[in-house]
Amino acid sequence: MEQQDMLRAIPKVDELLGMEPLQALAGQTPAPALREAVREELEALRRRILAGDTDHIPNREDLCAAVCRRAREASLPSLRGVVNGTGVTLHTNLGRACLSRRAVEAVVAVAGGYSTLEYDVDAGRRGSRHSHVEALLCAVTGAEGAMVVNNNAAAVLLILSALGKGGEVITSRGELVEIGGSFRVPDIMVQCGCALREVGTTNKTHLSDYEGAITPETRALLKVHTSNYKIMGFTESVPLAELVALGRERGLPVIEDLGSGSLVDLEQFGIHGEPTVQQSVQAGVDIISFSGDKLLGGPQAGIIIGRKDYIETLKKHPLARALRVDKMTLAALRETLYAYTDPAMAVREIPTLAMLAVPEHVLREKAELLCRALADRGVTARTVPTQDQVGGGSVPTQLLPAWAVAIDPGRLTVDGLEAALRRRERPIIGRITHEQYLLDTRTLWESDFDYIAEASAEVIG
Ligand SMILES: *Cc1c(COP(=O)(O)O)cnc(C)c1O
Repeated sequence: MEQQDMLRAIPKVDELLGMEPLQALAGQTPAPALREAVREELEALRRRILAGDTDHIPNREDLCAAVCRRAREASLPSLRGVVNGTGVTLHTNLGRACLSRRAVEAVVAVAGGYSTLEYDVDAGRRGSRHSHVEALLCAVTGAEGAMVVNNNAAAVLLILSALGKGGEVITSRGELVEIGGSFRVPDIMVQCGCALREVGTTNKTHLSDYEGAITPETRALLKVHTSNYKIMGFTESVPLAELVALGRERGLPVIEDLGSGSLVDLEQFGIHGEPTVQQSVQAGVDIISFSGDKLLGGPQAGIIIGRKDYIETLKKHPLARALRVDKMTLAALRETLYAYTDPAMAVREIPTLAMLAVPEHVLREKAELLCRALADRGVTARTVPTQDQVGGGSVPTQLLPAWAVAIDPGRLTVDGLEAALRRRERPIIGRITHEQYLLDTRTLWESDFDYIAEASAEVIG
């Protein structure tokens, strides 16, 4: 066909839109997006003709199929599920904790309809959104009162704004933490209108340092869990109980930012030295905050527990309204906390705990299973022992023994394989160590093995 004839033979946008396959898509795709996909496909064809890259007009069916692919790609949300092959259980970039099945079901149950979010069904009038988790939080932690805000950064912001504003808050120099995303304890203090009174040195802080710094301006004593780093060697910090005793004696609230806030003793999984929330409550800390989506394994949230009168003050603070959580978060958090009323159930049902609990030999079996799934598709792979980080700025210095699968990139380079799997519609995120492409089995679901094998076979070709 001559170029001019071909250009004239390009179908009209409306003609393609009227064809059956695109009509079928029309109900599920926004009309402007579908029209744009058709326009782009026809424009691409026009360019191919002008460049002399084609000698015929594809048939209508092929054009429609190409438009469907385009429309589908354009409609993919940037926020979507991935396969986590990094072995990092709480990967902040990959959304931290995976919710339990029950928590997901609870979200679905309230998301699409009306709910009792702020409605007391017994009284037939307005209720409190805090009520859905407060009693459970008190039951599982032993605290007197509890509330929930958007995340732990928000929790610290609210606590310091409500209890520290206009005065000084005393903190050890060894605990002036920076969490990712520019959350820094000294900067937060400024934001909250309180002055940071640093005491002690980087490696050692004594009770007398806190004592000596108390003035009429002091509003609180703050302890921050150094979640994402560890100072080793010649170090000393003040035991919680002593800080609490000092606070009591001087009538000052003792606040603790626990960071991860585990409700179970992680010693059972071979993770040493991570404090539990219950220990802080038992030590008598007045106000404690921690994240919902770190070691707790729930939705993004900032949990605040402690003395009832302080919690009431926080609930009434104007910032509380700005930092409040929605019904989906509360639904997921309620189910997560409910599992903790039976710690064995929590370890079974909450994916974060279940992943940390998997023994090494099971990870090895999982790796062998993935190797077989890959081999079935003609992809060469082998198991390799590795070590996993917990992630989420938790337990930074401890690595868990683990097993990964190293996939042979075949005709690709290792970098090429990594990129090709990462760019799938459902991205597969692995890591490259010592020139090997690794998928770590701790964070993989067995139900994804076929998908991984199929995608690998396809990209390696
Ligand atoms: C992670 C962390 C935070 C921030 O918690 P988010 O829930 O991510 O906002 C604050 N303080 C400490 C000590 C942390 O470890």
